[in-house]
Amino acid sequence: MIERLVKEEIKRVPPYIPGRGIEEIARTYSLPPEEIIKLASNENPLGASPKAIEAIRANAGRVNIYPEAMADELREALSHYVGLSPENILVGNGSDDVMEQCVKVFLSRGEGAVITPPTFSYYKILITMYGARCIEVQLKEGEIEYSFDEAALLDAAEQAKLLFICSPNNPTGNLVPEALLREMLERDVIVVLDEAYAEFSGTSFAHLVEHYENLVVLRTFSKAFGLAGLRVGYCLASEEVVDYLARVRQPFSVNLLAQLAAIAALDDRDFLRRSVEVVREGRRYIIEQLRKLGIKAFRSHANFVLFRTDKQGLVEELMKRGIITRGCESFPGLDARYVRVSVGTPEQNRRFVETLEEVL
Ligand SMILES: *Cc1c(COP(=O)(O)O)cnc(C)c1O
Repeated sequence: MIERLVKEEIKRVPPYIPGRGIEEIARTYSLPPEEIIKLASNENPLGASPKAIEAIRANAGRVNIYPEAMADELREALSHYVGLSPENILVGNGSDDVMEQCVKVFLSRGEGAVITPPTFSYYKILITMYGARCIEVQLKEGEIEYSFDEAALLDAAEQAKLLFICSPNNPTGNLVPEALLREMLERDVIVVLDEAYAEFSGTSFAHLVEHYENLVVLRTFSKAFGLAGLRVGYCLASEEVVDYLARVRQPFSVNLLAQLAAIAALDDRDFLRRSVEVVREGRRYIIEQLRKLGIKAFRSHANFVLFRTDKQGLVEELMKRGIITRGCESFPGLDARYVRVSVGTPEQNRRFVETLEEVL
C-alpha cells in the first residue's frame, strides 16, 4: 500500500552515499579505532578552532532558549569575512540546507536544472525530490585536470532554470573559469555556485553577487573551519533572492551553539590560516608522491585529491590497513578506478602514501 501512496518523484530519488566512518571500519576489520585515519569526507585534519570549542562549552547551559532566528550576529560577523552586507547573507543548517531552499524557491515540477557530473551527489537528489528534471553535462577529463564542457553547458542552460556549479568541484578539484561563469550569469537562469572549498583555492566569486542578482554563492563552516559536525552553512546572494530563500527556511535552522561557535571560528583567523596552509602543503605532497608512483593524480584546488589507478580493490586494501579513502564508483562518470583522498596532517599523508606503496 505504501508503495502506491508515495509520490512518484520520491521513488526516483537516488541514495546519498556518505564516506565511511571510523567506527564502522574498526568493526569490519577488527582494528583499533585510534589507529584508523579517515581521509574520506574532506574534514579538517586539525580539528576545530579552540575558540569555537570554548564557545560551545561556555554556552552549553543556555540551550533552553531559542537561537536568534535569522542569526543576525553571525550574519554581521560573516559580512566582514566576505565583504558583503548582512542583507546579502542567509544562514542554514549546513550549506546542504540552503541548497534545498534554492530548489524550493526556483524549481517547479518538470523544470530543468543542470548539474555537471562527476559532482556532489546531493544536487541530483534535491532536483529529483522536487520533481524537477536533472540535465547532466559531463565534465571533461584532461591530462592534468578536469574542465567544464563550455559549449554543452551553455547549450543546456537554454533549457534550464537553475544551474549547480561546484567550484572547486567535488570530487575533481577543478575551478570554474570566470568568463564561463559570467556567460552563464548573463542568461535568464539562477546560478548556484557551490564554493564549499573556496578557502583552499584562494579564489572566490562571492563579489559577483553585487553585479548579478541571479547568482547564489554557497559557503560552509564544514571544511576550512572544521565544524562539519555542527552543521552551519550560508549563501551569498542579492537581497531579493535572500528574501525569497528566507521565506522557505525553518525559522530556527541554525542552533544556538552552532551560531556562537561559527562566530568564534570567524574570529580565529590564525586557525583558518593554519588549516589552509596544512591543506595546500599536503595537497602538493600527495600529488607529487602519487605521480612519482606513476599514478594519474589530478590537479586540485580543494582539500582532496582525485587519482586513478588500475589496481583492483585498492580502497578495500587501504581500509584493511586502517586508511579510509573514498572510492568513486558511485559518482556518475567515474568508476572503481578513481579514488578521492582528503588531505590530512603531514603524518597522515605520509602514512597514506606509504600504505599505498605497500598495497601496490
Ligand atoms: C562538503 C560539501 C558541502 C558542505 O555541506 P554542509 O552541508 O555545509 O556540510 C557542500 N557542497 C559540497 C560540494 C561539499 O563537498
